[in-house]
This record gives sequence, C-alpha cells and structure tokens, in this order.
Amino acid sequence: MRIGIIGAGQLGQMLGFAARDLDAECWFLDPSVSPPAAACGEVIQRPFDDADALARMADSCDVITYEFENVPVEALRPLVGRVPVYPPPDALRLAQDRLDEKQLFDALDIPLPPYHAIDSREDMEAAATKLGLPIVVKTRRLGYDGKGQFVVRITDDVSRAWSALGGQPLIAEQWVAFDFEVSTIGVRDTAGNIRVYPLTRNVHEQGILRTSSSPVEDSVLSRKASDYVHRLLEHLDYVGVLALELFVRGEDLLANEFAPRVHNSGHWTIEGAATSQFENHLRAVTGMPLGETGSRGHAGMINLIGEIPDAARDLERGILHDYGKEARPGRKLGHVTVVADTAAERDDLVRKIGRTVT
Ligand code: AMP
Repeated sequence: MRIGIIGAGQLGQMLGFAARDLDAECWFLDPSVSPPAAACGEVIQRPFDDADALARMADSCDVITYEFENVPVEALRPLVGRVPVYPPPDALRLAQDRLDEKQLFDALDIPLPPYHAIDSREDMEAAATKLGLPIVVKTRRLGYDGKGQFVVRITDDVSRAWSALGGQPLIAEQWVAFDFEVSTIGVRDTAGNIRVYPLTRNVHEQGILRTSSSPVEDSVLSRKASDYVHRLLEHLDYVGVLALELFVRGEDLLANEFAPRVHNSGHWTIEGAATSQFENHLRAVTGMPLGETGSRGHAGMINLIGEIPDAARDLERGILHDYGKEARPGRKLGHVTVVADTAAERDDLVRKIGRTVT
C-alpha cells in the first residue's frame, strides 16, 4: 500500500510514522528542501499544484490525501476518478474560504458568532455597526495561526483595519468573550462509520495554539461537539480526520472553523488515545477499519514554538516530539505530550512543563 500525501510538514511526518505501523509506504509532495516528512518517506520536491508531479503520484499511489489546507483545489480535480482523493476536495474548498465555511455551519444549524462579509470600506463600517464592537476582521482565504486578522475595538480602528487588510475579500465576526476554547476531532471511513475523540481544551496565544488538554469532562459540551462534527462529516460525505474548533460560552458552543485534516490539537492522541488521529486518518483513507478513539488517561500537549530549549530534552515526565525544523520565531518546532492518571496531575504537569520550555 502506498499513500500519496500533499505536504511534508510535521503533520506529514506524524502521518508517515503512523503509516509504518500499518505497513504502508508514503510519498510526499512539497517544494521545501528537507521538510520534516523526509524522515519517513520519499519527497517529490515540486510545488503543491505541479500537474506532472501530481499525475505521477496518482499513477503510483493507492490513495491521495493532504496534510495542508491551502492545497489548490483545482490541482486536485484532475486526479478524481484516477485515484481516490480523500478528504473530498469539496470539503477542502469550503474550508479554504471563511465565508463558505460559516454559511455551511449556518446550513447545518451549527451555532456560530454573528458575521458579516466585507468587500469594501463601507462594508467594514456596516459590519461594525451591525455586529457591535469589538469585531475581528479576518481574511477570507489563506489565514492561519491568527495571521491576516485585525481586532477592531473602537470606531477609529476601522481605518487601521482597512489599511492593514483592505483590498481582498474579508469577513468580520463578533468578538466572543469565551470561557475557553475546545476542538472536537472526528474521523469517518469509506463505509460511513464515524468515531469521535474525547473533547480537547485549547489555549491559544497570539492566535497560535500553545497547549491542549483532553478529555474535557463535561458531558453536555461533549455531546454537542460530537453532534456538530457528525453533521459536518455526514454532510460532506467525508473520509478521513476532520477537526472542528469551537468557543465555549456557558453551556453553548460556537463554531470558529474546521480543518479538513489531522490537527495540532489532536497531537496528544499519539500517546493519549487508543488509536492516534494519524493512524485513524490513514485507516479511513485506505479503507481499513477505524481504531478506537477512547483516552488512555488524561493527556496534555505543549507546543514548542520558536525554539526547542535544552530543558525540553531532559524532562522527567513528558515525551518530546522534535520535528527537525530549523528554528525561527513563531514557528512550531515540536511538542511535548504528558499522560497522567488524573486531570489535576495532568494540569500540573502542563503548567510546569509550559514554564520550563517557554
Ligand atoms: P482563527 O485563525 O480564526 O482560528 O483564530 C485564531 C484564534 O484567535 C482563535 O483560536 C481565538 O483564540 C482567537 N479568535 C478568533 N476569532 C475570534 C472571535 N470571533 N472572538 C474571540 N476570539 C477569536
């Protein structure tokens, strides 16, 4: 079995390691020199939309998947019918545009913060009036880790937001004074079977994920999150892993965005769940039966951003994953996972390790 993966970053690397356990081989497509996934498979060093390279992958692989959400959808279309492409390119298309994504949430009755599409400065003023300040203005396409976002707190900020982001399709959302953030990760196989991982609580700083902890022991939130991710997976006739990020306010969940791929907030599943998100993604796209998604304790994950301090290599409790990337400010270079017997012990470890490595 050979799996073609578009993108060879750390998510590709973790997919590649999971593939070894399933006796599968991975080929990656990525223009970078020595990307993380080179550690576990052949890398075709070409652009993500290189028609020849994609055709070669289609001819040589049993299935094509992706670990990177900005793969040009049009480049995938010619492959459909030649080789299975999962998750379906339509899910990718919807996730690439925040307006389409929000309209999908609306159509599926998944609650979300009020929003307003912006194509002009007048639209931005109208959004501020309609939604009430503060609002978050985001680029509709190609934003990630909080990039391409501007918080408008006072009326004067509208001009600053327009200077920073104007001239491209934008969207404004009401600012949510959330209690905390969660993500729910689901997986669906080619036969339509669905499994959902225990709910994960996430802490972001400057738009970048810092820590994740799972399970969130709240049956009301867990039930709602599972219901919403089921709706998405079924509606999209989805195959593979999908992550839905949500804001928690009281007992309500408001959808922020979904990622049609394995997700940073699911890294804890490697040590903390019966089957990792990476293995289950590969199981789904290759037609193997899905593995159990239950927790094996109380797991925490701390992202290593910008540098991997020596202290992270010498932890008494905590498993280091070093992606082998060159250090650069703001770059995700690795993560540490802990699995504890109780939530209190886990939270304590996440706090202590967080202090040690940042
Ligand atoms: P995003 O790129 O949309 O996932 O945003 C990155 C992070 O910015 C989120 O995880 C939140 O911490 C914060 N954020 C984004 N949108 C909002 C919002 N409407 N209200 C409050 N915080 C937000």
